[in-house]
Order: sequence, then C-alpha cells, then structure tokens
Amino acid sequence: MKPFLYSLCVVLFLSPLLWARPVNDRPGATAAGSALSMPKQCQPGKTSPEGLGWRLSANKPVRVFYLKDNFNRAESDALARGVNNWNKALAEIDSSIIFVNSGERESVVRDELTITVMRGAPKGKERVGEIKFYTKPNGAVRMTVIINPVVTDLNALTSLMTHELGHAVGLADCYECRRGTTAMSAFKGKNKGNDVYEPSACDKYVVATGYAAAARNGNTQALTFLEQQ
Ligand SMILES: [Zn+2]
Repeated sequence: MKPFLYSLCVVLFLSPLLWARPVNDRPGATAAGSALSMPKQCQPGKTSPEGLGWRLSANKPVRVFYLKDNFNRAESDALARGVNNWNKALAEIDSSIIFVNSGERESVVRDELTITVMRGAPKGKERVGEIKFYTKPNGAVRMTVIINPVVTDLNALTSLMTHELGHAVGLADCYECRRGTTAMSAFKGKNKGNDVYEPSACDKYVVATGYAAAARNGNTQALTFLEQQ
C-alpha cells in the first residue's frame, strides 16, 4: 500500500481580476477585537494546515448538490455528514459561510456559490478526490468535487468530503501533518480516510484567523484569490 494518497485542489483562474493584495495571515496573527488564540497543539506543517491563500466569503448559503445516480443513499448521507460537520465548525468560529445540502441534480450546477459533488477520476491516478474552483470575472464562483469511485467506505467518504470542503474554505493540504490532527492530512489508503471526520481545532483556528485577516483588510469580494506566500 502506498504511504500517501492525495487529493488534488485545482483552482481554475478564469479571471485575473480576482487577484488581490496578500493579507496578513501569518500564523498567530489575531484580529483586533477578537479572541482568537492558537490552540497549543497547533504546529503549522505538523498538526495544523496552512491557508491556501484565498477566502470564500459568501453572503448567501453555498449549496451542495450531488450528481444524480452517482452515489447511493448511504454514500450521499456520508458525504452530507462532512458538510454538516463543517457547518458546525463554521458556526463555532462565527463564520458567515453556511453549506446547504441541496439534493441531487441531473447535471453539474453552474450557478454561483454551488458545489457539485460527483464520481470521476481525479487527475493523477493515486488521487482519491479533487476540488475545482471556477470563477467568473464578476467574482462568481462555483466548485466541483470529484470523488474517485474506489472510495465507497462510508467513513472514508465523510473524511474525504471534510477534506475537500477544507479546501473550499481556504485550507491547504498538509501531507506531513500527523494523521488525526487535521482534515487536511494524507489518506491512509484508497478506501480509507485520514482518521479525521470533522474539522479539527487547528483547522478551525486557521480558517478563523484567515478570515479575520481578510476582514481587517476590508476584503469584501465574493471570492478573492490572494497571492501565495
Ligand atoms: Zn487536498
């Protein structure tokens, strides 16, 4: 068995207009007036992921659709658990982002602030999942999450969905991170998760600090890609 199985995060830059100034999101940065403090166990690169360098700032719910007949009921419930677990985490950190499980669709949904989850082959044969971001010049964003058909274990599906939504809210992979510490760590095997089924304390902290930094910079775009640092 391969030691690591990755998922891929693909950002399709259809518009250069969405590039903006980097925000101050160094680890440990705290927002004025907020009480964000880094949990002791969070060590970037070891137990805590870094930010991808962009924020999804939604003023309305992000609807999550499942492509028709791609998942059986138990599988879509397992994926929905990943969605619900992120909602719980986002509420805890006072984020305005809410995901809404919105049922099946016949085809990929192209409306803004949607995620279509489907079966397919992620780029790279060792990959178990992939998220793609599509942006338009007006700032509209939609996403697709592609789940490798080999992933059928229900816990693995919850783990994978939690991981992909981590990218959706701006977390980077952390393949070096100790398993069990973050949703963004590598997977144990093709049909196994990474032992994390909901955002960890460190995941929540990194998301919260990133968004606080973006808010401080007056960043109110629907989606802003920020230069990687
Ligand atoms: Zn990933």
